[in-house]
Amino acid sequence: MFKDKILVIEDEAGIRSLIAAVLTANDYDPILSVSGADGMSMLTSHCPDLLLLDLGLPDMDGMEIIRSVREWSTLPIVVLSARNHERDKVAALDAGADDYLTKPFGAAELLARIRTAIRHTRTQLPSSMIASSGKFCTGELVIDYDKHCVFLRGENARLTQGEYRIVALLGKYAGRVLTYDFMIRELWGPKAKSDNQILRVNMANIRRKIEDNPADPRYIVTEMGVGYRMIEGE
Ligand code: CA
Repeated sequence: MFKDKILVIEDEAGIRSLIAAVLTANDYDPILSVSGADGMSMLTSHCPDLLLLDLGLPDMDGMEIIRSVREWSTLPIVVLSARNHERDKVAALDAGADDYLTKPFGAAELLARIRTAIRHTRTQLPSSMIASSGKFCTGELVIDYDKHCVFLRGENARLTQGEYRIVALLGKYAGRVLTYDFMIRELWGPKAKSDNQILRVNMANIRRKIEDNPADPRYIVTEMGVGYRMIEGE
């Protein structure tokens, strides 16, 4: 059977063996590295399908690894980061990481992030293509990319054009966290001001229209200090 190879670069033995056990039990083929330098050479010798990367390594900064990989590869990268390091997470995503996990994390969360990152790489579209076609469904929410409408339980949620574009963008990358800066650039162009306030106001309006409980959203969750994530579709 074909197994996806996952390179794990993590210096903490406990976390490393936990990840290895979860991956093995779920039909992945883990390759383990305790240092950044070894990990970098394993990247070329093992050609993994995904890189799980701890940002705090003893011999080098995980950010350096992301930048160096992105010079030659679209390999999906999921970073492992400590709690309260929002700035590191944003920097990692902006440098080209696909997603992040906050330590400590559960097995289900780890597997979900890996599945999403691998799938998105295999079906990658140019990032300028906000307008997709077809439909995206998650729970009782449907984004109809042809009609430019969002439906909740079959009813038009009556989003404004601006609100629709935000939801459409999140739906295109469902399962992945999008940073505020990434969203602003995609929605309003590279020269747009990095003002999260506009995004926040729009999100409050969107949630009133598509969430049963806007304070406890089911479809678009806030990743504190980082950005937003649309829950994965079926
Ligand atoms: Ca570490």
